[in-house]
Amino acid sequence: MKLEKKRILTGDRPTGKLHLGHFVGSLQNRVLLQDEYETFILIADIQALTTHFQNPKLINDSIYQVTMDNLAVGLDPDKVTFVQQSQIPSIAELTIFYSMFVSVNSLRHNPTIKTEAKQYGYDDLTYGFLGYPVSQTADITFCNADLVPVGDDQLPHMEQARKITRRFNELYGNGETIIKVPETLLSKNSRLAGLDGNSKMGKSLGNAIYLSDDSKTIDKKVKAALTDKNRIALTDKGNPNICMVSQYHKVFNEEEYENTCEMCRSANIGCVACKKLLAKKLNNTLEPIRERRNYYENNLNLVKEIIIEGTKKANLIGNKQVEAIKEAMKIIL
Ligand code: ATP
Ligand code: MG
Repeated sequence: MKLEKKRILTGDRPTGKLHLGHFVGSLQNRVLLQDEYETFILIADIQALTTHFQNPKLINDSIYQVTMDNLAVGLDPDKVTFVQQSQIPSIAELTIFYSMFVSVNSLRHNPTIKTEAKQYGYDDLTYGFLGYPVSQTADITFCNADLVPVGDDQLPHMEQARKITRRFNELYGNGETIIKVPETLLSKNSRLAGLDGNSKMGKSLGNAIYLSDDSKTIDKKVKAALTDKNRIALTDKGNPNICMVSQYHKVFNEEEYENTCEMCRSANIGCVACKKLLAKKLNNTLEPIRERRNYYENNLNLVKEIIIEGTKKANLIGNKQVEAIKEAMKIIL
């Protein structure tokens, strides 16, 4: 008997290019999972509207950028399915159905919604923003995904998704499971801090190192990194524990991490040399990514084709799923 592969749903909001935080937090893991699981990568252009509705051009451009970033890190278009969220009507339908039994209070108390609302400076939330965990549940369930790999900021949304699917089955399943209750796969890697000392690398924080940055840009960004402020002269002994360059060596240059710490503590390496070492390492990591990205940048039609084909495949699955769901809900004639 052929065992069916379990299905993963993951994705990105097209609100700009992807950066090293995304790479460490999710993309690397996606590449590792693509053989074992049937992977759907959602380019969530509708979810992007929840915060960027005033900037449709950015979203439209970023659909390509984000897809290319995924392809560039090694996701194989023959193995994974790229899906443009806005072109999947079943997601919109499911969002409406679920919204009938999700309480506003459960959304208002969602900790990630609260944090993000603060981050964006919203005091009166839009209907769409408040409801995006519902639409995310539709993303996960239109293809009956088994597993969703997430960072810790997404845990409240997964809890909500599990609650919604359980409730749906209770309400309409007649003892059967119509919609799978998705499992959460928590990313092992924690948040990547910014080289400026911010606890998170983020697009809107102005501290992002993009996967598409060229080597000169990397050199410049690493040069500006926050180091131990008390270390002024080359002969001063440094404290790697309060140095962002050292933190990055730990993530991107594991083999030399201990050694650079030791050399810093004993004043045997200066910050300039230590930064050069890190920049070189980052450039080595990014070089094959840039090369693949470059190929796709020169073949945008191919990128478009990959999205269109993937979306077509996803629609076949989504339409079937909605049919079953409508039948369970008695939305039939
Ligand atoms: P913005 O500043 O506009 O919020 P961002 O750079 O934080 O953008 P998002 O699109 O909000 O990017 O991030 C999407 C997902 O990527 C997050 O849910 C998180 O899991 C992951 N992610 C983003 N930044 C990092 C980071 N620095 N380290 C690890 N994971 C990250
Ligand atoms: Mg963010």
